[in-house]
Amino acid sequence: EVSMEKIIWRKSQQMQEEQLIWQQSTEGREMMEFRSSLPAYKEKDAILSAISQNQVVIISGETGCGKTTQIPQFILESEINSIRGAMCSIICTQPRRISAMSISERISAERGEKLGDTVGYKVRLEGMKGRDTHLLFCTTGILLRRLLADRNLKGVTHVIVDEIHERGMNEDFLLIILKDLLPRRPELRLILMSATLDAELFSSYFGGAPMVHIPGFTYPVRTHFLENILERTGYQLTPYNQIDDYGMEKMWKMSKQAPRKRKSQLVSAVEEALKAADFKDYSAQTQQSLSCWNPDCLGFNLIECLLCYICENERPGAVLVFLTGWEDISSLKDKLQGHLLVGDTSRVLLLACHGSMASEEQKLIFNKPEDGIRKIVLATNIAETSITINDVVFVIDCGKAKETSYDALNNTPCLLPSWISKVSARQRRGRAGRVQPGECYHLYPRCVYDAFADYQLPEILRTPLQSICLQIKSLKLGSISEFLSRALQSPEYLAVQNAIEYLKIIGALDETENLTVLGRYLTILPMEPKHGKMLILGAILNCLDPVLSVVAALSVRDPFLTPMDKKDLAEAAKAQFSRDYSDHLALVRAFEGWKVADRDLAGYEYCWKNFLSVQSMKAIDSLREEFYSLLKDIGLVDSNPTIFNTWSYDEHLLRAIICYGLYPGICSVVHNEKTSLLKTMEDGQVLLYYNSVNARDSRIPYPWLVFNEKIKVNSVFLRDSTAVSDSVLVLFGGGISEGVMDGHLKMLGGYLEFYMEPATAKLYQSLKRELEEFIQT
Ligand code: ADP
Ligand code: MG
Repeated sequence: EVSMEKIIWRKSQQMQEEQLIWQQSTEGREMMEFRSSLPAYKEKDAILSAISQNQVVIISGETGCGKTTQIPQFILESEINSIRGAMCSIICTQPRRISAMSISERISAERGEKLGDTVGYKVRLEGMKGRDTHLLFCTTGILLRRLLADRNLKGVTHVIVDEIHERGMNEDFLLIILKDLLPRRPELRLILMSATLDAELFSSYFGGAPMVHIPGFTYPVRTHFLENILERTGYQLTPYNQIDDYGMEKMWKMSKQAPRKRKSQLVSAVEEALKAADFKDYSAQTQQSLSCWNPDCLGFNLIECLLCYICENERPGAVLVFLTGWEDISSLKDKLQGHLLVGDTSRVLLLACHGSMASEEQKLIFNKPEDGIRKIVLATNIAETSITINDVVFVIDCGKAKETSYDALNNTPCLLPSWISKVSARQRRGRAGRVQPGECYHLYPRCVYDAFADYQLPEILRTPLQSICLQIKSLKLGSISEFLSRALQSPEYLAVQNAIEYLKIIGALDETENLTVLGRYLTILPMEPKHGKMLILGAILNCLDPVLSVVAALSVRDPFLTPMDKKDLAEAAKAQFSRDYSDHLALVRAFEGWKVADRDLAGYEYCWKNFLSVQSMKAIDSLREEFYSLLKDIGLVDSNPTIFNTWSYDEHLLRAIICYGLYPGICSVVHNEKTSLLKTMEDGQVLLYYNSVNARDSRIPYPWLVFNEKIKVNSVFLRDSTAVSDSVLVLFGGGISEGVMDGHLKMLGGYLEFYMEPATAKLYQSLKRELEEFIQT
């Protein structure tokens, strides 16, 4: 025992000495100087003493004040300096993998160490950690996974949950579990970090835990709303371009008081301003390009116009543009690249910043460009709080973010770019004032801002709960509804019931809400239950290779790209991969083609030609490997790799496996003279997403489609569907395990009777009888 203590003490001393040496080097000194200039540094003692005296502490401070990079280090350093030193194990969760990676790298650099030594990270598919890693950054999902095997987080001394203000589903879920764990592990410390001031909610959730606020320093930011912007940029508002991506039309309506009146007032005010605007301020070049712009969307044009204005007239400083999502970023980027001024690489450095970018791409964002070059970063709301770009002086805020919501009544997820909250708008604005006074351009009028909600709804209230329910069961956390009722804000009854019902239908839970054998397998697979089901059946039926591709492809961003200006070509390219009314089979073919081309080093060319994303292809490739080894670990495939390596599959079988996974995501195809009408039981008529291969033919010669996802935009749209026959649906739809069989047949029966033609009904009746006999024997 004594010698063990000695070893730890020596190790701690060694770590301490190494840091001292680093801090005396030139680089180390510079780092220390930077670190101690951060607002968080001034609160170091207050933070550490709060943590030593309380089991739970909530820390808030503006983005960029040094929470994520400094506070874990304070804890680490204070542990090293104490006798416990080399014993500590600090876990800091991040909602996104990109921040887990970039922050651990940053901290290693601040400590003059290699990533993976004292500081490491672990995210899905990637990780860098070693025996001496004491501070680990991971995604929230990874920590939840660890809890599965290690309920008490043995050996962990500190858990830091970062970015709690985002109210992500995983974070809310984790907090319930940690709240239960705290009494069992009295020496464990929990630190919650938030970028916004509304910390009281968390404090009272943890029985009045103390809050430490880090006062920030930001320079004043001048705010311009749409009224002022139009005036500045000389953009002309014509009736034609009032409707656009960012829903300018809707925006007027949103304003609560007398929308119509307000609209006309605003438009005339804006038009007044336009008349007064002096076009002579602009160079001939800009004038010309202004008139060349396709006024199909005010949002993009306005951004383009503003960027031009900033590049020409404003002081140096990077520009950060907030857009709704990856699609918008990529199409605006394409658009800007062709532009005379903004696309000129000798004057402008145009970068994208979103959740799914590659790590090399990421680093470019933080670099300071050479003098005379203006950095423009097109970002999603990831740059709102989790990533800080230092040299931003100008912010352009489109006012929207793509957000999912969930309609429990119709059991349908919705995905719409929706207006952000006041908190988000303020957050976006604040990004401009980090190094000097800044400017923020909101692309909406003041009256719309006034109508924004104060806070965003937490994810747990706007997402289907299937995966979380399955996790509750696998972590043995008791009754699902009882557990969820203990959340910070608990989801509505109907949403919970829908999720439980779904899990019963797919055979993951039995009637008494216990995990079935299938359910247990599904909890081990880190993906949506429906995709897990496909993998399991694919493995059992020896048809794994294509199923791996399907599931991997559904877990990454859609590999089929549709650049705005080449929509037709892109759709035609996708159609080549389809012969059989299945988006999933098209994915498999596209990936297989890439595999072959990539072997001859022509993968890039292949993607280019076929409008496929190289990154997605690579991601599919590595996900396939990961899923395969998972299946091997849980014993569903034997270790003989030949099965995996042979490319042979039975297409009919594959269709059946897809159906098995996606059930009850089914829709009936009803033919009239000209077209096929699609209907689901809950929604009535539905439509296909525009890039589905099934949307190309007016007649689908199958009675059913199974779909991966339905989303309500204006109508309900189905994404990624596969056509299946009656017999496939009857035999493979639903969970074929005894407990749910009965319910499943009833449901399927209800479904079939709802739409069925007499011939199909007969077939169904006989198949049903066969199946029932089969089950009884
Ligand atoms: P917070 O978590 O409070 O938002 P961070 O700890 O992430 O703040 O960042 C503190 C400061 O460290 C930021 O203001 C930024 O200047 C700097 N910083 C963070 N990450 C990097 C990086 N990868 N490269 C350079 N500077 C960084
Ligand atoms: Mg942070």
